[in-house]
Amino acid sequence: MKETKNYGKVTLIGFGPGNPDLLTIAAVKALNKADIIFYDALIDQSFLDEFDAEKISVGKRSGRHSAEQDQINQLLVDAAKEGKNVIRLKGGDPMLFGRAGEEIAYLHQNNIEVSVIPGVTTASALAASTLTSLTIRGISQSVAFINGHADLPITPDAETLVYYMGAKKLKDIAKALIERGKDPQTPTILVYNASMKDEKVFRSSVEKLANEDKIYPTPLIVLIGNVANTIS
Ligand code: SAH
Repeated sequence: MKETKNYGKVTLIGFGPGNPDLLTIAAVKALNKADIIFYDALIDQSFLDEFDAEKISVGKRSGRHSAEQDQINQLLVDAAKEGKNVIRLKGGDPMLFGRAGEEIAYLHQNNIEVSVIPGVTTASALAASTLTSLTIRGISQSVAFINGHADLPITPDAETLVYYMGAKKLKDIAKALIERGKDPQTPTILVYNASMKDEKVFRSSVEKLANEDKIYPTPLIVLIGNVANTIS
């Protein structure tokens, strides 16, 4: 084991879906103690101004290349090796579609201590905003969180499907679901900027999504399933 006693540590923190009110108390405490904060593009910088730490924006909205991810990994390692208390702030929950696995592995390879503070994932923000329980006894006993950006649509068997990063592929996803036997009348809820003041909710159905070319604003989270039918 290398000499690591002068290294700082890295904390991966979930910022939640955007509204800072949804940060955990643990996250705020950690941000107050940070020396340096590396944050993602969806995070509102003005909120970060209240913390003394140095702030560095990393990452693009979408299509982040792995080269860029390698650079981020290295930035985290370098800062920790300088003895800094490093925060890696990510949208939603860091452990869901957040490249946290790669960052943790690289930090561990470099003998850097890592901890994680969870955040509210966007699926939960959609559920709260639209009063839609993701599971309902007798309607849905299972939920899948899905990468909606995959080349071939991913269509798991869960009763409630939540697609992240799927705004540009809605038509393909809906068609694939119908091909797999999903009832075309299955309701859908699409939420733009969940938890934020300008949040917008669009209600639709799998059939409508399969037949329209509408471009929805992003970031967009999409729920598909009969749980969407349970409120007026
Ligand atoms: N780790 C995050 C997900 C990152 S993937 C989480 O747990 O929520 C990025 C995707 O999350 C976006 O493409 C979008 O689908 C969704 N997303 C993030 N913030 C959002 C918001 N405020 N409103 C709607 N969708 C959001």
